[in-house]
Amino acid sequence: MIQIVLATTNSAKVKEFVGILGETAEIVVFGDLPPVVEDGETLIENAFKKARSAADNLGCIALADDSGLFVDALGGRPGVHSARFAGPDSNDAANRSKLFSMLEGISDRTAHFETVLCLCAPGAAFEDALYFEGRCEGHLSGQERGSNGFGYDPMFVPLEGDGRTFGEMTPDEKSELSHRSRAISKLKDFLVDRVD
Ligand code: IMP
Repeated sequence: MIQIVLATTNSAKVKEFVGILGETAEIVVFGDLPPVVEDGETLIENAFKKARSAADNLGCIALADDSGLFVDALGGRPGVHSARFAGPDSNDAANRSKLFSMLEGISDRTAHFETVLCLCAPGAAFEDALYFEGRCEGHLSGQERGSNGFGYDPMFVPLEGDGRTFGEMTPDEKSELSHRSRAISKLKDFLVDRVD
């Protein structure tokens, strides 16, 4: 089985990658990779920075992801700044609270999540890395519902769901619809084609 180094220590993410890739690839995680400053203007830039840094440090091909929530009425914000929307030391609750405040009185609640995965070799240029994208359309609820997941999950209602927020779904239910799982599935298709 192919081994792929995943540049994250987030155990929920690792679980999702392992669950979707199954027997296609073995995910390997290193806990002590140097931190990367995620100062790119786009998800793809940040995904490349993280994958390239891991690849350079470990001397092998590495995979990294970057995701964000894009709200139409806010011109795509928080977007690439989703993790620190309420400030450099913000947490998920503060980010959601800021978003709810900004949307007060706004009826257009459409939004989408987006993920970019980057598979990168040591020393590779931006254009030589491989990218896999996943997107999940939906809207933001009027108030938080559910406490599962992380980030903006308690306020995001996926279009293809049953009206529940991601925060009200089990990890498996969320994975059926999520931006990240769609990107991982594209990576899986790519790997399957290469192995065949
Ligand atoms: P990351 O690049 O996956 O770490 O995502 C950056 C930020 O986007 C997170 O800190 C969350 O605020 C938000 N985000 C990304 N994916 C999700 C998700 O699946 N649910 C909720 N929030 C998410």
